[in-house]
Amino acid sequence: MPLPSFTGSFTQQPPIPDAGIEAAVAVMRSGRLHRYNMAPGEDSEAMALERAYASWQGARYCLAVASGGQAMQIALRAAGVAPGDAVLTNAFTLAPVPGAVAAVGGQPVFVEITGDLVIDFDDLLRKAEGSGARVLLLSHMRGHLCDMDRLTRLAADLRLTVIEDCAHTMGALWNGRRSGNFGLAGCFSTQTYKHMNSGEGGLLTSDDADFMARATILSGSYMLYARHGAGPDPRMFDQIRLETPNTSARMDNVRAAMLLPQLAALDTSIAAWNERHDLIAASLARCPAIVLPNRPAAERYVGSSLQFRVPDFDESQARELLARLAAVGVELKWFGAAQPVGFTSTHKSWRYARAQGLPRTDSILSTLFDMRLPLTFSLDDCALIGEHIVAEVSALAPRHAA
Ligand SMILES: *Cc1c(COP(=O)(O)O)cnc(C)c1O
Repeated sequence: MPLPSFTGSFTQQPPIPDAGIEAAVAVMRSGRLHRYNMAPGEDSEAMALERAYASWQGARYCLAVASGGQAMQIALRAAGVAPGDAVLTNAFTLAPVPGAVAAVGGQPVFVEITGDLVIDFDDLLRKAEGSGARVLLLSHMRGHLCDMDRLTRLAADLRLTVIEDCAHTMGALWNGRRSGNFGLAGCFSTQTYKHMNSGEGGLLTSDDADFMARATILSGSYMLYARHGAGPDPRMFDQIRLETPNTSARMDNVRAAMLLPQLAALDTSIAAWNERHDLIAASLARCPAIVLPNRPAAERYVGSSLQFRVPDFDESQARELLARLAAVGVELKWFGAAQPVGFTSTHKSWRYARAQGLPRTDSILSTLFDMRLPLTFSLDDCALIGEHIVAEVSALAPRHAA
């Protein structure tokens, strides 16, 4: 009997929890949507979110901003990146990452990745020495953490400042330490497809008071930097407030209000993602043609998406797999396409950056498939998705067929 088609949506997120809706509505009823618009004696929702996220993350400071992309731009600038500076980043990432480098006038220098979808340390060493870059914007793309202990040592040897893009690792740990706490700063997104959903939004965390004071002014705090929930001592701003431009990238109280209850439920969401991820991964692991990225024991990932490779596929087989799975309702993303599609693009289409040869990354991406796992999927949905993928890959790769 043929498998039934899958009818769920890969882009449908769960609703905002009732407590978040009620809190957001209360902000709207108050009229005080702007984060610095506070009644006497009141703390704003944005302040409360900064306090709660700093505590959850285990970071001294947290700044709520308008997007994950803004968190990265602000972080790069507050870290001292100036126009013309080279900035290292891993080549497998999403467009806002090189975009953030370009936004501050930096020159992205792409570093190769390994088959496990993490930064290649040998190439990092080469590119750091060759480019003179002082900053690495490390993107934990699709939630894959490199060996963060080794990375931290290597960065120290190379005198590289590390800024982590944690858009896909909010809640992930390496050897018990939260992703985002390994370098100067962690950048998080609360855009709809990430681990918390306020439509758009971002969080920036750090333990460095000077950095966070600059970031706060950059985010558009005017002289109201004391109205922050987890910011540096106001004395830190004496000089910085006069030297730092206001680039208007604040979060408003409506978004902060809808995020607070989601933060309280984040560990529950992570468990639900991992259950779904691990169920599909276990079924794909039974197909010899499929290679899953290795997940080291030190990594506690958040399985909000799943990636696999079929290294024996050529381009026409990859396209055929996408078409066959789409026909049964399973929408995969493929990083091997010559033209960017939807949210997916590669270094070849980031033409504002200097063209760079990345043969290893290109070869890995040419057979890399990716899917989101929204929490609207049931475990039965995930089992069906896994069966469809194994059936179609096996049909297209007959010499592996069991
Ligand atoms: C979504 C995303 C970002 C940026 O987040 P926005 O809030 O959409 O600006 C950064 N890095 C990665 C890897 C992302 O997926």
